[in-house]
Amino acid sequence: MWRFWFAVGGFKMNYISTRGASPAIGFLDAVLAGLAPDGGLYVPEVWPSFTPQEIASFSGMAYAEVAAKVLGRFAGDEIPSDVLAKMTAEAYASFAHPAVTPLTQLYPSVWQMELFHGPTLAFKDVAMQLLARLYDYALAAQGRTMTIIAATSGDTGGAAVEAFRGARHARMAVLFPDGRISEVQRRFMTTTGDANVRAVAVQGTFDDCQTIVKAMFQDDDFRQAVDLSGVNSINWARIAAQSVYYFTAAAALGAPGRAVSFAVPTGNFGDAFAGYVAKQMGLPIERIIVATNGNDILARMLQEGRYAKGAVLATQSPAMDIQIASNFERLYFECVRRDGAATARAFKAFNETGGITIPAEALATMRETFIGMGINEAETTATIVSTLTETGQLIDPHTAVGVCAARRIGAVEPTTPIVVLATAHAAKFPEAVTEAAGVAPVLPLKAKGVAEREEVYDRLPADSDTIKAYIRAFAAKGMSR
Ligand SMILES: *Cc1c(COP(=O)(O)O)cnc(C)c1O
Repeated sequence: MWRFWFAVGGFKMNYISTRGASPAIGFLDAVLAGLAPDGGLYVPEVWPSFTPQEIASFSGMAYAEVAAKVLGRFAGDEIPSDVLAKMTAEAYASFAHPAVTPLTQLYPSVWQMELFHGPTLAFKDVAMQLLARLYDYALAAQGRTMTIIAATSGDTGGAAVEAFRGARHARMAVLFPDGRISEVQRRFMTTTGDANVRAVAVQGTFDDCQTIVKAMFQDDDFRQAVDLSGVNSINWARIAAQSVYYFTAAAALGAPGRAVSFAVPTGNFGDAFAGYVAKQMGLPIERIIVATNGNDILARMLQEGRYAKGAVLATQSPAMDIQIASNFERLYFECVRRDGAATARAFKAFNETGGITIPAEALATMRETFIGMGINEAETTATIVSTLTETGQLIDPHTAVGVCAARRIGAVEPTTPIVVLATAHAAKFPEAVTEAAGVAPVLPLKAKGVAEREEVYDRLPADSDTIKAYIRAFAAKGMSR
């Protein structure tokens, strides 16, 4: 019997918690769970890897094919390879560019990787399009229907709605702060017209939305009644999906024969950690530049060795206005040699006191790959202007933070190519871009409908009982439409 199992080549990938006190589980269970029961984040028990020959073969391969190969390493035998290939093909067919995440050269050794050709013009589409398909696959296999809830300050909500609309086994509700997001961001959530999606304008702040979502997850009765799940940036599948474009970019620029560096506009440390993952899998990444705006908790941590939160500043790059970088816990776990008990102690202390000191050896390990750089508002504006005048490219403020940091490092280490992750299209942040550059960005053809379609959404008070009752009624409707 076991001989037959061995002959078909099945291999199981297990996922463990960064806090060391939850049992190991499989890939699809880790995707559906999000957070581990001990409060930690899931990481693979062992890092899968690619040989240099395999990495070389990614050059010129279709993006969806590379994605199927990378995700296949993380899914192990839980998803047949032809099913996974179909999922990635469908996910990336929703992108407006045939190369999915094309590279354009800005300066002699600086490129931008355009991660904004998905349906909602920001990089979150890359992972969310795949995540929705993984959910539908896992839920169909388990005969289950889940209610997915997300609080959003802008980009995540739209990407989630676009990805999950029309899903057969999941319904989706997004909570956004009424009047506190841009019109484009709101329209991406409110104009799809699909019956399995609800957009709720909460009369309060983003923090109110997050508090309500937390209250829902803490209410066992409610959680079970609607089979609640979340798709925030700590979900392992999002990190796995984001590691793919590090491979395609590096292979296009000469990896594995040549090392490549990346400059990553960072908030929750999801994208930056995905780069670390690609490096663990064998990709020759020299440096990952952690580029932050004035909310520079991560840049300071790398410079000074203390991870301590401050007050949240409002900037031109609002998707990075974050003082707690959830995914940083994964890097910490790695750099304390995967000591779950030490990681649990550190992050419980951080929650209680708002600051921890990184052990010297762990900090040295982090600095082998990462370098931090905080970019202020004036530098961001100046970079939007200089990039336009020098290269003709109109970039968004998040991307500008990355370009500014890349040019500063590039001046010191000019031989290694640096790829900046261009995380949003300029037209997603028209006010900031117009003010900086004096030129209004044009909405891409494929996204034009969003400005014209009718909006449908509900407006509710920032009261968790009211919103829970609303979600219960939504879940009770079943999946018929
Ligand atoms: C979410 C987001 C970021 C930050 O990404 P993290 O993975 O959270 O670090 C940067 N830019 C844009 C446009 C985003 O939407």
